[in-house]
Amino acid sequence: MSASPASVLPAIPATELPVVGGGVFPVRRVYCVGRNYVDHIREMKEADERDPPFFFQKPRDALVADGSRVPYPPFTSDFQFEVELVIAIGRSARDIPIAKARDHIWGYAVGIDLTRRDRQRDARDLRLPWEVGKSFDASAPCGPIARASDMRTSEGCTITLSVNGIERQRGDTRQMIWSVPEVLAQLSRQVTLGAGDLIFTGTPAGVGPVGPGDVITAQIDGLPPLTITITPPEA
Ligand code: MN
Repeated sequence: MSASPASVLPAIPATELPVVGGGVFPVRRVYCVGRNYVDHIREMKEADERDPPFFFQKPRDALVADGSRVPYPPFTSDFQFEVELVIAIGRSARDIPIAKARDHIWGYAVGIDLTRRDRQRDARDLRLPWEVGKSFDASAPCGPIARASDMRTSEGCTITLSVNGIERQRGDTRQMIWSVPEVLAQLSRQVTLGAGDLIFTGTPAGVGPVGPGDVITAQIDGLPPLTITITPPEA
């Protein structure tokens, strides 16, 4: 047995989110559903409501915890919020049948899919990938993870977002075009879902811009709220 070779860089920190009631949830990958509420598709004036869901990723180190201060990002002048139900995967699998999907869910959280809307629109117009609009530093605020068994249900929950105390988004998770089990089934046909994966499941209507000083609070029935504060751009 030879010793493992020495790393040439300092260890890269693990990404973990707090669990309601104690402990931490280790994060493997962060997926997002591109569009999943009819009224948001209509406000974006894009796509067909019957299109199958599509998925993109954010880097896991883009996660930021409840209470964080998020600097206004570079490379945008239209920085927007999207409140989303987040699924936390507890058991790895591929080709998950819809009827078995809930067996793979460890818990749920409230997330915000922070978006450079101007860059997302550029990408759409130029038929380029969405990364620049979606996958950047601190673009994935996520609240504490609640055990699935502690949540009344993942469906039929009110989902809201307010900015400086004024409500901007309100929906119900029953409005999702693709339900939580359907999202898991679809994504697990494309990749092997792993324990520790998070899936942001799309946003209802009402998305809009924010700037430095704004306080964003996202809430879903049965889950701890998520609050972040936007701060001036980093020098
Ligand atoms: Mn989104």
